Amino acid sequence: MSKKDKSKFDDEDIICKYRLEYDSNKVTMVADCKECNGGGELNDGTCLRGILKGFCQEFNVDNVILSHYIETKYTDESIQMLRMMVEIINDLDQMSIRRPYDEYFKQNPALSSTLKNKQKDTCEKCDLGPGKVFILLKEQYVKDIHGFYEEYNNLLGKIEENEDEECLRCISATKSDLVYLFNKLENLRAYVIYKGFQIII
Ligand SMILES: [Zn+2]
Ligand SMILES: [Zn+2]
Repeated sequence: MSKKDKSKFDDEDIICKYRLEYDSNKVTMVADCKECNGGGELNDGTCLRGILKGFCQEFNVDNVILSHYIETKYTDESIQMLRMMVEIINDLDQMSIRRPYDEYFKQNPALSSTLKNKQKDTCEKCDLGPGKVFILLKEQYVKDIHGFYEEYNNLLGKIEENEDEECLRCISATKSDLVYLFNKLENLRAYVIYKGFQIII
């Protein structure tokens, strides 16, 4: 486990401890859900979170078994859904390290250092910059998917209200990434509805 992966989930909860089993080219993640405080199903928020955490650290898992009083096995379509969710987490991570002022400085190499510092200062304070918005969204995504959608709509509303504000660079960068994210979220939602999962996202 790399440090970077660990940072995707900032708590130290014991959630869905797992082991990997290898059998005829298939990798199965077997999670012990008797101690995770979840219900041992993916439509339980705790277990969904625990398994997502595992998925951010493992590649090429083919099946998942949640072992509670009974074992619940997830294959193809559920795995596809988890991968789509991991992709969104990775996107949120990438978006959060974007610094709009860097792009601006590259396009305007003649800017004085005073102006650069001033811009950098404004950006670092900007609540609607990618560094703040996408870290917040990622935390929500891995913590509580319902809270995430609320936060997402809330931020989109704020961006639209503040379109004339001082830090246009941050606002336009954040807005374009939120729109990009919207399409991915819609794809995921459509997939979940189409496949009839009980997980509400
Ligand atoms: Zn669990
Ligand atoms: Zn800015």
